[in-house]
Amino acid sequence: MKELVIISGKGGTGKTSMVSAIASLAQNKVLCDADVDAADMHLIMSPEVIKSEPFKAGCEAKIDKNKCTECGLCRKLCRFYAISPDFIIDPIDCEGCGVCYYFCPEKAITFEQKTCGEWFISDTRHGPMVHARLGIAEENSGKLVSLVRKESKRIAEESGLDLIITDGAPGVGCPVIASIGGASAVLIVTEPTVSGVHDMKRVAELASFFRIPAMVCVNKYDLNKEKTEEIKSFAETHDINYVGQIPFDPVFTRSMVDAKNIFEYAPDSDACSEVKKIWKRVSERLGC
Ligand code: SF4
Ligand code: SF4
Repeated sequence: MKELVIISGKGGTGKTSMVSAIASLAQNKVLCDADVDAADMHLIMSPEVIKSEPFKAGCEAKIDKNKCTECGLCRKLCRFYAISPDFIIDPIDCEGCGVCYYFCPEKAITFEQKTCGEWFISDTRHGPMVHARLGIAEENSGKLVSLVRKESKRIAEESGLDLIITDGAPGVGCPVIASIGGASAVLIVTEPTVSGVHDMKRVAELASFFRIPAMVCVNKYDLNKEKTEEIKSFAETHDINYVGQIPFDPVFTRSMVDAKNIFEYAPDSDACSEVKKIWKRVSERLGC
């Protein structure tokens, strides 16, 4: 089984549009939205949820006022100043380290796992999809990314599907590391801007560090051909396959507004013909 993770280094480059376009071209696949901090593939895929589960991670400390003698030890020990003078724990400041729970002489503090979000298995017009929603200001998105990828793999195995197309997390932090670890290859979608090039280089270094074969394509390449050339030459000198470029095309935005991918919205557009070429090269490289 192969897993292609589509990443970008930064948001707004057209990564999700690319994933949903590829969903029209790839066969026998599971779609996985691992961009759990800002999941948006469901807006295009209109998934019909068939299973939902809470995502539990980290623990939350709470003081039982009936048992607390207000000795003040927990406030003294808490390095995050999360406990107020009247012994209420601020859930935003609390880092869930558990120190107060372990040292409270009255056993007045509970420390239970908290629900940080929800994850889903759904049916879509392009096959099964695993996706999630992380609660506002919740952490542990790396764990949730790992969970949705693991479920996608399980579904692919059980259903005899040989490809997983994953919408990876943006950036270069923990969520994107969790998105790409163990993947067959990554496709970096970038744009020809100073920040696009900078972030593409960082995420390419990350893929190289984890020894994951990388490919790159440029969206809106005609907006700055000089920067597009810079991306191309970076790819050539860093063992990254340059798989194509897509001209600026408003069909990306319009199709999203219409809850469609570009093949469903404007199958004869230039963008579609370029994405087809890109997918041909990517699938050849993946061997699928
Ligand atoms: S350590 Fe326990 S008993 Fe002391 S103030 Fe904190 S919660 Fe109350
Ligand atoms: S769990 Fe840690 S961070 Fe949270 S209130 Fe207790 S000592 Fe402070």
